[in-house]
Amino acid sequence: MESTRVMDRTTPTAGTMERVFNFSPGPAVLPLEVLERARDEMLSLPGVGISVLEVSHRSPPFDRILEETTNDLRVLLGIGEDHEVVLVQGGASLQFSMVPMNLLRGQPGPADYLVTGTWGHTGAKEARREGRVHVAWDGEATNYDHLPTAGELQLSPDAAYLHVTSNETIQGVQWKHDPVFGTAPLVCDCSSDFLSRPIDVAKYGLIYACAQKNAGIAGVTVVIIRKDLLERSRDDLPTMLDYRTHVKNGSRANTPPVFAVYVLGLVCQWIKNRMGGLDGMARHNAAKAKTLYDVLDRSGGFYHGHARSDCRSDMNVTFRLRDEAMDKEFVKGATARGLIDLKGHRSVGGIRASIYNAMPVEGVAKLRDYMIEFQKSHGG
Ligand SMILES: *Cc1c(COP(=O)(O)O)cnc(C)c1O
Repeated sequence: MESTRVMDRTTPTAGTMERVFNFSPGPAVLPLEVLERARDEMLSLPGVGISVLEVSHRSPPFDRILEETTNDLRVLLGIGEDHEVVLVQGGASLQFSMVPMNLLRGQPGPADYLVTGTWGHTGAKEARREGRVHVAWDGEATNYDHLPTAGELQLSPDAAYLHVTSNETIQGVQWKHDPVFGTAPLVCDCSSDFLSRPIDVAKYGLIYACAQKNAGIAGVTVVIIRKDLLERSRDDLPTMLDYRTHVKNGSRANTPPVFAVYVLGLVCQWIKNRMGGLDGMARHNAAKAKTLYDVLDRSGGFYHGHARSDCRSDMNVTFRLRDEAMDKEFVKGATARGLIDLKGHRSVGGIRASIYNAMPVEGVAKLRDYMIEFQKSHGG
C-alpha cells in the first residue's frame, strides 16, 4: 500500500512536502529539479525502456549520457583542447594518491603543497607516502583562518607541481582568484567549490573534484588534466591508478558509476539551462553567502566568523557563538525549524552552514531569520 501511495505522487509539491533545508557539507543538497527528473526517469530513461540503474555502460544510451556530460563540463568551464576530462572513482581522497603517483614519481624536484586547511593537510600527508613533499605554507598556527600572500610562500625552484585547495570545506576558507604562484604546474583540489563559479582552466595543470558537494552525488570524481602532464606517468603504475588508462578508454576502462555520471550530467544541465552558467551560479552563491556574513558582521560579536573576511568561503560559512555552551541549543532549534546538519566540524567547533549550488535562497533566508531571532532571545 505504502509503495502505491509513493508511486501516485506525480505533482512536484507532493514529493517535496517533507523536505527540509539541508546544510550538510557533503553528500549535500541537490537541485529539486534534478531530483524530480531522476525520479521521473527512474523506471525508464526516455525512449530506452529501462532504468539508468540497469543500463549497460557500453550501450548507446550511456554513450550519450557520458558524451553529453563531458561536453557540458567542457562548455561550462571553457575547457580547451590542451586538457583532457576524465571521470574516475575513489573520491577526491584517491586523487591525494593518484596525483603524486602520476606527477611526482621519477621527478627530480619535490611536490610543493599549500596547507590551507584540513584537506590541504590530508593531501600533503598522502603525497608523502609517494615521494618528497615540501610544504610551501602552512596556516596551522592560526587554525587555518586565512590564506597566504604570494610573498609568504616558500616555493621550491624545481617543484614537480604546486598543490592547492580552492576551498577548505572544514575551515570555510576560499581563494577569491585562481591561486597561481610560481612556474610549476598548478594542481588544485576543487572538490568543494567545483562548478560554483568560473575558473580559468588554462592556468591549471590538473584539477580534481568529487561530485557530492556541488556537482552531484558520491561515486564519481572529475579530473581535468593538461595533456603534456600525461607523459609523466610511468609504466610501473597500477593500471587503474594511471591517468593514461582513463584518458585512453574515455572514462570507461572498467564499469563506471553510471547513476553518479547521470546525476552529474543533470546538474550540469541545470547550471547551464536554469542558473545562467557559472557566471550566474557564482552570483547566486555570492548573494547567499553575503546574506549570512551580513548577520555575522552586524551581530556585535554574538556570532564570530572563523575565516578572515578577505577569504571567507561562499560555500561553507563557519562561525562560533559568543558562548560556546549555546552551540547545541542553536543546532537543536535550527533542526526543529527544518534547518539541518549545521553542526561545525570538531576541529573548528561552532556552526558550519554549507550553502552549495543547490541550496535555495529561501533556505539561506530562513537560516538568517533564525540567527537574528536566536541572538535576540539570547541577550545579544
Ligand atoms: C569532501 C572533500 C574531499 C574528500 O572527498 P571524498 O570524495 O570523500 O574522498 C577532499 N577535498 C575536499 C576539498 C573536500 O571538500
